[in-house]
Amino acid sequence: MCRTVLQDIYPNLRLADYLAPDGNSEIEINWEDEPLYLGAFKMNLPGQYEYQRRLFSQFMTGLEGGTPDPFVLAGDDISWVAEWVEGAVTSAINAVNKIAVLFGGGDWDELQGPITRWNELKPIELPSPKSAAHERQRAISTEPSEVV
Ligand SMILES: Cc1cc2nc3c(=O)[nH]c(=O)nc-3n(C[C@H](O)[C@H](O)[C@H](O)COP(=O)(O)OP(=O)(O)OC[C@H]3O[C@@H](n4cnc5c(N)ncnc54)[C@H](O)[C@@H]3O)c2cc1C
Repeated sequence: MCRTVLQDIYPNLRLADYLAPDGNSEIEINWEDEPLYLGAFKMNLPGQYEYQRRLFSQFMTGLEGGTPDPFVLAGDDISWVAEWVEGAVTSAINAVNKIAVLFGGGDWDELQGPITRWNELKPIELPSPKSAAHERQRAISTEPSEVV
């Protein structure tokens, strides 16, 4: 199919001239038959927002304290658009900005990077269910009790 499509796009191209002889020019891999294959994508389940927020924000580790952590994550899986190149690229921009800082650089004159604009762009931190429950409990325990 791929060859047919290419031939349609480039009708004057003699594709066969570029292929290895004796039918050895192509291999086919069925990933689902591969023993170490674990699936194509990682997607978030409901309730995993906080995990994703922390993964996405990992590149900021140490920056606020002035000791940037040199371990930097990147990849579509830690982005907000896992399974798409767009997510890989956005996380790479974050990682590259961090690496620039680690090597003494930072922003371009005309363009501020994600580190400088973090407070404006960062994903919202939700109250954890545990702390929300704790707050409710505290509110209940400080309410004046009814005298019977
Ligand atoms: C079948 C399929 C179809 C897709 N179609 C689209 C599409 O149409 N449009 C789209 O936008 N996205 C598509 N995607 C998703 C896109 O390919 C990914 O989002 C993108 O490639 C992720 O880039 P990445 O840099 O995060 O990771 P990757 O491209 O997976 O790069 C990670 C690299 O790390 C290497 N690596 C892993 N472990 C180690 C190690 N221990 N040491 C050294 N290297 C290591 C791997 O070999 C790999 O080269 C598709 C993905 C699949 C699987």
